[in-house]
Amino acid sequence: MDNAMISRIEKAKRYAEQPERFQFQTFKVTIRGNNSTHWVTYDHGTLASDYDYFVKHGYSQHTMALERILQGMIVSPAQQESAYVMDSSRISKLEKAKQYAQERSRFTFDEFEVSVKGDNNSHLVTFNHGKFACTCEFFQSRGYCQHTMALERILVDMINTRAEETSANS
Ligand SMILES: [Zn+2]
Repeated sequence: MDNAMISRIEKAKRYAEQPERFQFQTFKVTIRGNNSTHWVTYDHGTLASDYDYFVKHGYSQHTMALERILQGMIVSPAQQESAYVMDSSRISKLEKAKQYAQERSRFTFDEFEVSVKGDNNSHLVTFNHGKFACTCEFFQSRGYCQHTMALERILVDMINTRAEETSANS
């Protein structure tokens, strides 16, 4: 490990504690429910899902769990609480969402784009089926950077990085 890498790891740890640095632009997540598997997508503030309950109501335990996990890092439809009636079905979904948010291995982020505020500039990190990319210079030369490493920490247990990448980084 060289000094450049050590300083990046330190930065990544610090960044990972500061959700306000991260703004998800888009993502696609696969969720393993108790009975079946569903997907949720996010596109600049708009959530979508193939789950029946979501299609009817505009939210579900999956989307609410993701809003919890990514709190401060997405423009959350839940911030407009008044848009939803607090009926018994919403309350039960909310309880499930709290439980799901603790069970991170249910979620797999297949793809995402996140803008990251670094100490000097903002950069765009993209992740696509196991491969990270970042617009910063350090990433261009090394294939990793403080931004991608911070996101690996934030999304621990929820992303699968490619085997050859993991071994190259270790
Ligand atoms: Zn970077």
